Amino acid sequence: MSMIFCRGCGKQIHETAESCPQCGAPQVGFLTQKTTYHWSSIAALISGIVVFLMAMTEPNGKWDRDAVLGGMILGSIPIAFSLYSFSISENKSRWMAITGITLGIIVVLASIGSK
Ligand SMILES: [Zn+2]
Repeated sequence: MSMIFCRGCGKQIHETAESCPQCGAPQVGFLTQKTTYHWSSIAALISGIVVFLMAMTEPNGKWDRDAVLGGMILGSIPIAFSLYSFSISENKSRWMAITGITLGIIVVLASIGSK
């Protein structure tokens, strides 16, 4: 239970109040402005970056058979997270899923292309 001050009249009101009970001023503070991202979008972005960096730091750019298989498996992780994120129509963090799936596809294609 924490209190904030009304933007309209300055009286103390509860922080979850959508409008002031005293003067009726709407309270559009940080609580409603906070952006929330779905975990699948964040997972897609982070796993995409990690997998991409792992693929790019492959020693001497040489891929042996295990690395090719590993790249394909690792690359499919961000793709899977992204597809899940798209399937639940998470618009706010779509750019994360798009970035994740792009990096995942690059890694998979690089793995296949290095054969
Ligand atoms: Zn007020």
